[in-house]
Amino acid sequence: MSSSPAPAALDAPAGAASASLFERAATVIPGGVNSPVRAFGSVGGTPVFMASAQGPYLYDVEGREYVDLICSWGPMILGHRHPAVLDAVGAALAAGTSFGTATEGEIALAEEIVDRVAPVEKVRLVTSGTEATMSAIRLARGFTGRSKIVKFAGCYHGHVDALLAAAGSGLATFALPDTPGVTGAQAADTLVLPYNDLTALERVFAERGSEIACVITEAAPGNMGAVPPLPGFNAGLKDLCRRHGALFISDEVMTGFRAGRAGWYDRDGVAADLFTYGKVMGGGFPAAAFGGRADVMAHLAPAGPVYQAGTLAGNPVATAAGLATLRHCTDAVYERLDAVSATIGTEVSAALSAEGVAHVLQYSGTMFSVFFSQRPVRDYDDVRASEAFRYRAFFHEMLRQGVYLPPSPFEAWFVSASHDDRAVDRVVSALPQAAKAAAAAVPPAA
Ligand SMILES: *Cc1c(COP(=O)(O)O)cnc(C)c1O
Repeated sequence: MSSSPAPAALDAPAGAASASLFERAATVIPGGVNSPVRAFGSVGGTPVFMASAQGPYLYDVEGREYVDLICSWGPMILGHRHPAVLDAVGAALAAGTSFGTATEGEIALAEEIVDRVAPVEKVRLVTSGTEATMSAIRLARGFTGRSKIVKFAGCYHGHVDALLAAAGSGLATFALPDTPGVTGAQAADTLVLPYNDLTALERVFAERGSEIACVITEAAPGNMGAVPPLPGFNAGLKDLCRRHGALFISDEVMTGFRAGRAGWYDRDGVAADLFTYGKVMGGGFPAAAFGGRADVMAHLAPAGPVYQAGTLAGNPVATAAGLATLRHCTDAVYERLDAVSATIGTEVSAALSAEGVAHVLQYSGTMFSVFFSQRPVRDYDDVRASEAFRYRAFFHEMLRQGVYLPPSPFEAWFVSASHDDRAVDRVVSALPQAAKAAAAAVPPAA
């Protein structure tokens, strides 16, 4: 941390430099950002442009220091600029950045994944989580010879056309496009069901079981905020899939190698047919993967007929960063993630309770989030019923005090093994004022 710039006074008029960059960005980049959540649309205000990072801290373009509670949405599990990751990247860079040929590092990363996740026998490396889920679905369709897929409302699997679908009216109705640009035909092959509702899936399988290629779910959702599966839900999904000849795809892009050594799989032991990974396994670079049963993976080209490819798949720099990250994700790292997320979660809850703010603090492994709700949040309808306007006030007060939370009420919070007591204390000391802001928040005029 000695190389970090000194933090500027946190109460100085902030954000002029970010505001001007945002304005400049918007002239050449749609909405000024390359991924929508970065634009602060859900919380209002001007996005903060970051310039550097170290350990658990981000530094903005004005030199302000923030405790980072998004960790690049998961990848920075060891903290920013971890020396072992930087060394591995440096060595890979020195050897050449991309060859378009097979390299040994790809084997090592695949071996590390296979070693960590018992049901994963073979792995294919790709460059984003979106590609991982898209390819897993294609493989499931190719393997089963069926066309329909099932997903759950509120689960995000990247911007795959078929997965940007929203529930139509009535449970057995095939889905509608969730964005312009996805055709009715693409959405019509997708069924969207309420999360945590096994009965809905039973009914769908009873009606159209022979058409369903796969069921895909976030192993423990973080993309609608943390909404963990009810006990037995994932096992029930797997069982229904098995009985009807469909594949079960566990999307561990967010939870993989974060909820535990393998991921959420460590916590419920449900052996999916296919798993998808990203985020942590890229160590901050574009690397992702899908893998699973050897007999299913054998259907992938060039071993089998289902086509899948990538110019930069298994890129040596990304692969080196991912491998170094995974090799440093020891039991001690997972213990620290659990301890830090438990401490921060408990303190968030205590601060809000002290101000009489109704809320629920939920965990999906070591990711967590707060919902301004009176009751447990089990599905996307519950998520949408929570008081999102309170989060806006809470977020901005935390930001003012130097804590960078997800700029959306419906995203999970992420910690890293580098979050030491100083960083945690900084978060905790910002909470009372943020809780007051949440208590005072009023709903926007209708
Ligand atoms: C982030 C995420 C994806 C998409 O990954 P990208 O690398 O952003 O394409 C897919 N599934 C889940 C569960 C994710 O959290």
